[in-house]
This record gives sequence, C-alpha cells and structure tokens, in this order.
Amino acid sequence: RKRDDVDVEALEKAVEDLDPKEVVTDFTDLPLSGPTKEGLKGAHFVTLTDIQAKAIPLALKGADILGAAKTGSGKTLAFLIPILENLYRDQCIGRDAGLGAMVIAPTRELAIQIFEVLKKVGGKGGHLHSAGLLIGGKPFQDEQNALAGMNIVICTPGRMLQHLSQTSSFNADSLKMLVLDEADRILDMGFQKDVDAIIDYLPRERQTLLFSATQTKRVADLARLSLQDPEYISVHEAA
Ligand code: ADP
Ligand code: MG
Repeated sequence: RKRDDVDVEALEKAVEDLDPKEVVTDFTDLPLSGPTKEGLKGAHFVTLTDIQAKAIPLALKGADILGAAKTGSGKTLAFLIPILENLYRDQCIGRDAGLGAMVIAPTRELAIQIFEVLKKVGGKGGHLHSAGLLIGGKPFQDEQNALAGMNIVICTPGRMLQHLSQTSSFNADSLKMLVLDEADRILDMGFQKDVDAIIDYLPRERQTLLFSATQTKRVADLARLSLQDPEYISVHEAA
C-alpha cells in the first residue's frame, strides 16, 4: 500500500483490539485516522453523544446496526465517521476504488445537510475519498459523469435507483457500506419500493447501518430485509 502503510496497519490492529463494551467519552479515545482526528478537531467536536458512543465502536468493527435515537442526537457523525474510517482502512480512495459507501436520506435537504457535515469533517480533515450528492438537482447526465469517480455518495432513493438502472457506466459492485438515515421518514414518504429495488443492486456482503427516530413495524420489516444479525442500539431521552 501507500506511504501511510504503517499508519493503516497500526489502525487496523487498534480497531481489532477495540472493545465496544468499553465506555468512550472523547473522540481521542477512539482509534481514528489522522484526517478524521484533524477534521473533528477543526469542527470543535470533542465528546461523543450517546448514540455516537454506542454506535461508532461497533460500526468501526464492521457490525450492522439498527439505531434508534431522536432528532438532534448526533446520528450524522455516528455513521459518517465509520464510513470515513472503514473506507480509509480499506484504502477505498480514488477513481479505481469505485463506490465504497452509499447514504440514503429521505429528502434533498437532508442529503445536503449530511454532505455538508461530510465536507466539514472529512474534507477539511484531509481525507481523499471523493464524495458527491445524487439528489436530482442537476441534469441527469451531469450526475452520470460525476458518479464515475465517487467513493462516497449521499442520495435520495428515487435518483439513486434511476442511476442504478440507467447509467451503464455506474455500478455498486464494490460497495462496502450502506446507510439508511431516517428510515422511518423514508418509508413514510413512500420510498419502500425504491429502497427494496436499490438493495437488490448491492452486494450482499456489505455493512449496513439503519437509523430511525422511531421504531415502527415497517422499519422492522426494512431492517429484516437489509441488515444481517444487527446490533440494536437505542438512546432514550433523559427524563
Ligand atoms: P440527528 O441526525 O440525530 O438529528 P445531527 O447529526 O444532525 O443529529 O446532530 C445534531 C446537532 O448536534 C448538530 O448541530 C451537530 O453539529 C451537533 N453534534 C453532533 N455530534 C456532536 C458532538 N459529538 N459534539 C457536539 N455537537 C455535536
Ligand atoms: Mg439526522
């Protein structure tokens, strides 16, 4: 591998040794790459929120997760940090590496918000994965061209399905991580069929993180379809 050979190897060992039952409070307690540490520092993120403390160690170790936590609890970093780290340790960086991670959000606004956090922590920290938004704001062909080099894509269900079915130069065969953010809203908005169809295009062997503010029967059904032997994490409001 590249110049940071030793870095990556040491990180792999540290993640292997990480005990997800041990309580972490600060981001500096976690085995994270230099760029992620820099990005978190630059954005002034120091201590983990509850959902982050429970989800990140498990997700770094490759577990599938079904996470329930209300709005405002910090779910975005709970999945973006594992994406940045797991792709970094796998050296899923650059055009030839292909698409490594897909985040599906219910609305364009939410997808944009997630992308902004990714830029703030990942981009500013110095990660080299290329990332993009697929939300249908641009002409389809512009998106098609941009897609070819993306390692991380943040998308809405309809547009992603359209590309998977119509963009011949694009495939998700190398995908390592799928995130379904606000799964309850994705289902409320009628995207169940689109998400089912997207999942049919993805490799079976992948890591999937599903986050939802509420736990409904339909979320449980989607979880059964998309997750393998997941860890259940739920964070309750302080009374
Ligand atoms: P959710 O997706 O659960 O609704 P967000 O990921 O949007 O929550 O985060 C909610 C707010 O909390 C954002 O303003 C974000 O910047 C902030 N935040 C997230 N994680 C942390 C953290 N570890 N320390 C301080 N602020 C955080
Ligand atoms: Mg959110």
